[in-house]
Amino acid sequence: MNLSPHFTLAEMTASQTAARRDIPNDPPPAVIANLRTLCIEVLEPVRTHFDRPVVVSSGYRSPILNRAIGGSGSSQHCLGEAADFTVPGVGVLDLAQWMQRNLNYDQLIYEYGRWVHVSYRHGRLRNMELTAKYGVRGYLTGLRA
Ligand SMILES: [Zn+2]
Repeated sequence: MNLSPHFTLAEMTASQTAARRDIPNDPPPAVIANLRTLCIEVLEPVRTHFDRPVVVSSGYRSPILNRAIGGSGSSQHCLGEAADFTVPGVGVLDLAQWMQRNLNYDQLIYEYGRWVHVSYRHGRLRNMELTAKYGVRGYLTGLRA
C-alpha cells in the first residue's frame, strides 16, 4: 500500500526485530492515517529537496515491538507519528539542519550522529530540536555537532 508518492506502508512498518522474533507489527487504521501524514508533511519534502532515497530504519512500532527494543513507553513511533531515517549521501547533521530551516514538526532529534528522528502530530507542532549523544543522559537542546 502506498502512503504517499515515495513511501509505502511496508517500509514504514518494517522491523528486523519484529521479523526475527515473529512480533506482529500491523498498525490499525488510525495509525496508518498518521503514518500517511508523516510521509506527506515531512518525508516527501525531504525526498524532493535532496532528490535521493530516504531510508527509514524505524517507523511504526507496535507496543509489543517497542517494549522488545526498549523504546520509550510514550514513543510517538507507537502512534505512527515518528520515523528514524537517513538520506545516504547526505550528512545527518546537514539533513537535520535543512529540516530545521524548512519544515514544521513536533520533535526533530539528531540521534548519536547517525540518524534523524522526526515526529509530526496535527495540533502539536512544537518545532523542538534535540540532540542525543552517547554518554550523555537525556537530550541536549538544539542540534549539536
Ligand atoms: Zn525514533
